Order: sequence, then C-alpha cells, then structure tokens
Amino acid sequence: MKVYISADLEGIAGVTHAEHTMRDGKEHERARVLMTEEVNAAISGAIEAGATEIVVNDSHGTMRNIIPERLHKDAYLISGTPKPLSMMEGIDDSFDAAMFIGYHAACGTQNAVLDHTYAGRVVSAAIINGMELGETGINAAVAGYFGVPVVMVSGDTAVASQARDLIPGVVTVVVKQGIGRYAARSLHPEKAQAVIKEAARKALGSLGSVGCFRVRPPVCLELHMNNTGMADIAELIPGVERIAPRAIRFVSEDYLTVFKAMRAAITLAGETLQ
Ligand SMILES: [Zn+2]
Repeated sequence: MKVYISADLEGIAGVTHAEHTMRDGKEHERARVLMTEEVNAAISGAIEAGATEIVVNDSHGTMRNIIPERLHKDAYLISGTPKPLSMMEGIDDSFDAAMFIGYHAACGTQNAVLDHTYAGRVVSAAIINGMELGETGINAAVAGYFGVPVVMVSGDTAVASQARDLIPGVVTVVVKQGIGRYAARSLHPEKAQAVIKEAARKALGSLGSVGCFRVRPPVCLELHMNNTGMADIAELIPGVERIAPRAIRFVSEDYLTVFKAMRAAITLAGETLQ
C-alpha cells in the first residue's frame, strides 16, 4: 500500500500565530519539531495499517519545515519550492490513499486558526464550480484527479468540519479548537500525536469506505483577491478573464490546468506586495 502525506503547519497542535509559522518567527524552530512529530505519528499509524511506501510532501511556506533527520526513517520527504503541484507535489495514480496533516480552514472561516487559502496576503476566496474551497478541497481534488482518496485530515475543529462536508467518510482528527484566528485550546502535542497515529491506522484500515473528491469538468475557478492591483496583474495570464475589480475567472476541461493557473495567478499577484 502506497500512502501520500501532505503536511501543513497552521493545523499542528500548539500552533496559533505567525511567530510559529513564519521562517523568521521566534517560535518557528519549535513549531517545525511539532510538525515533524505529527507527521511521524501519521507515518507510524500508516505502517501499522500495512503501508509499504510513504511519501511526505512538506506543504507550508518555504516547504522546508520538516526536519529531515527527525522524520521517520521509512518515509520519503519532498521539500522545497517551487514545485509543479505545490502542496500536492509527488501525488500520482500509484498511491492508494492520501492524508493531510496540520491543515487549516479556508480563508474567511470564523474561529479557525490562521485561516487562509494558499496565500493569505493575496487570496480572499477561491470558488471552484460554485464551491468556495480552502486548501483541503483544492488539494483533495488534485488527489481525486489521480483517483486517490483523502482518507484522513488533521487540524483544528473548523478544518475538520470543512473536510467532512466535502469528503464523506473521511476520518478527521481535531488537535485544537480555534478560539479566534490567533488563539486555540489545544491538545498536548504528545496526545495529538497519539490520536493522529490511531486515526491514520484506522483510516487506512478501512480503505474503500472513502470516495475520491473530484471536480467535474468543465472546471471554473473564480479567484477573489485582496485588491485591484492583484487582479490587474493576474489578468495578464492568457485565458484569464477579469470578472470584477478584484476577481478573475479561468475555465478549463482539465482540473490540473486550472490548479496551475491558480498558482500562477497567486504568484504573479503576490509580486505587487514586493
Ligand atoms: Zn496552508
């Protein structure tokens, strides 16, 4: 059994602030350890469930957060950025299941720790075929494109609820309850790791009960941005249509083409912040 893990940082137990998540934050080094240990817990659970190959993709910020020498020896680590599929780099149709560790709710979710969608300073909403999606949905649809079900998602209460709304049967692990954007009531890290390990084992032990989350073609992305200057520059991408002062639209038959166009638009729009 081949298992794919995408790991983010905002949904790790104990993490509540940019001091944890930004590379130069005072708490970042500690947050990296906590992230690595939650991923290790998922790996241990996967191995107990019979996983024979595990690929972990570091999916936060610089994508160089997981500490290689502390990662479980039986997993491959993809780190660094940019990479073609970003938070889902390395996924393909050879995998039996995917798990999301340390995930967070979509931009605009109340009482959700560090809620955002791909780039908090750029994106105010990503709407795909009429569904407002966060990273859980956007990335689960990349897995679904390859026929891979997302069987487990860990993070705060809000991301767990968004995951269950999109993916019937998904196992969710709540490691903290958001009290606001920058506050949470969290499990102790060791407790969070124990729950993640058990959930991973359980989720992979009942493969087949979770379906793939797929976005059917034609795929229509509406990307709402924080200001008009961002849409000015995103509009330069061939095929992109300006639909509002701060919003663009991109349509394709192919989900991955839309996913890549979204990333290009976000990256270009982010240039206005330099
Ligand atoms: Zn994220």
